Amino acid sequence: MFELSKEQQMLVKMVREFSEREIAPLAEELDRTGEFPNETTMKLCKLGLLGLNVPREYGGAGLKDVDKVLAIMEVARACSSTGEMFAVQLLVNDIIVHHGTEAQKQKYLGMTCKEGKIGAFGLTEPGAGSDAGGLQTTAVQDGDYYILNGSKCFISNIGPHEGEYVIVIAVTDKAKRTHGGMTAFLVDRDTPGFTLGKLEDKMGIRGAAVSELIFEDCRVHKSQILGKVGKGFHIAMSGLDSGRVGIASQSCGEAQAALDAAIEYAKQRSQFGKPIASKQGLQWYLAEMATKLEAAKLLALKAADLRDRGEPAGMNASMAKFFAAETANEIAAKAVQIHGGYGYMKDYAIERIYRDARILTIYEGTSEVQKIVIAKELLK
Ligand SMILES: Cc1cc2nc3c(=O)[nH]c(=O)nc-3n(C[C@H](O)[C@H](O)[C@H](O)COP(=O)(O)OP(=O)(O)OC[C@H]3O[C@@H](n4cnc5c(N)ncnc54)[C@H](O)[C@@H]3O)c2cc1C
Repeated sequence: MFELSKEQQMLVKMVREFSEREIAPLAEELDRTGEFPNETTMKLCKLGLLGLNVPREYGGAGLKDVDKVLAIMEVARACSSTGEMFAVQLLVNDIIVHHGTEAQKQKYLGMTCKEGKIGAFGLTEPGAGSDAGGLQTTAVQDGDYYILNGSKCFISNIGPHEGEYVIVIAVTDKAKRTHGGMTAFLVDRDTPGFTLGKLEDKMGIRGAAVSELIFEDCRVHKSQILGKVGKGFHIAMSGLDSGRVGIASQSCGEAQAALDAAIEYAKQRSQFGKPIASKQGLQWYLAEMATKLEAAKLLALKAADLRDRGEPAGMNASMAKFFAAETANEIAAKAVQIHGGYGYMKDYAIERIYRDARILTIYEGTSEVQKIVIAKELLK
C-alpha cells in the first residue's frame, strides 16, 4: 500500500511522460475554445488507457482500481478537462464490466477499447440531483421494448461530436422507486427519440462536454437493460463508489498541478530583494498544501485498494472524494494567493486550474452528500 510495485511505477512514468508531452500543451486551448479533447481520447485509446480497467478479453488493459487512481492523477495534473473525460469513462467501463451481459461487454467495452468511443452516465435530472431517488424519467414496458420519457441534465462525456452511448437510470415502477423501482438502460446515441439538449457553458473544465439529454417516446429494446429490471438504483450507487474514487484522483491531480505552479512561481518571483519562496509565511502555505495533498492521495489509494481486494469501500470512497475535492479547492486558492495579482490573470495556468477545481466538491455527490454517506456508516 505504501510502496508502488514496479509495474505501478512504470505505469506512472508512462502516463506522466505521455500527459506532459501530449495533454498539458493543449490545456489552455481547450479551456479557451471549449473544444472536447477528441484527438487525445484516441491517443489514450491507442495507449490502452481508455480501457485501463477493462478485462483483456474485451480489449482492455485489465488493470486495477489502484492503477486507475495513479493514471487519473497524472492525466488530470496535465489537464483537468481531459482528466474529467478520462475519470468518467473509467466509471462507465466499471459499470459495464460489473453489470453488462456478454453481448453488451463485447459491444460497448470493445467500442471504447478498440475505437476510442466514449460513453456517459446519466443519473441527474433537473429535479433530482443530490436526491437521486427523486428521478422522473420513466421507462414503460411495451412488449420487447421499453419507452423512455424524461430528461437528464449536466451529463458528462456527451456532446455534439462525442459520446456514443449513455447509461440511463429510469423509473420502471413508481411505487417502488429506490427499492427496486429503477432500471439502468444502455441507450445508443442514434436511438430514435433520444436527442441532445443544451451543451453547457461552464465555469471550468471547459473542454469537457456536459449536456442535457432528452427522451421522447424513445424505444429501447429489452436487450439494452443493464443488470436486472429494478436494479438501477443499486447500479447507480455502486457505480458512484467507483466514480468517487475517480474524482478523488482527479482532485489530487489538479491539486498537484496547483502546488507545482505555486512552488515554481514562489522561486522565481522576487519582492523585497529576495524570492518570495524565502518568506516563511509562504513556506508554511506550501508545507500545508503538500501535506494535505499527500493525505488526499493516501485516502484515494486506500479506497481503491479496498475495492481491489473486494472489501466494502463506500465510506472510504466518500472520505477520499470529500477530502480530496475540498483540498484541491483549498490548494488552488492558496496557489492563486501565492501568485498575487498575476494569479488572477489568464496568462498564468493557475487561473484556469482554480476555476477547474471548483466543480470537484459538487459532482459525483457534493461534499455535503459525502458527509451524509460517511455519517450514516458511522452511526449504523
Ligand atoms: C460539470 C458537471 C458535470 C456533471 N456530470 C454528471 C454526469 O456525468 N452524470 C450525472 O448523472 N450527473 C452529473 N452531474 C450532476 C452532479 O452530480 C449534480 O450537480 C450534483 O449531484 C448536485 O446536484 P444538484 O446540482 O441538483 O444540486 P442540489 O442537489 O440541488 O444541491 C444544492 C445544494 O444543497 C445541498 N444539499 C442537498 N441535499 C442536502 C442534504 N440532504 N443535506 C445537506 N445539504 C444538501 C448540496 O450539497 C448543494 O450544496 C454533473 C454536474 C456538473 C456541474
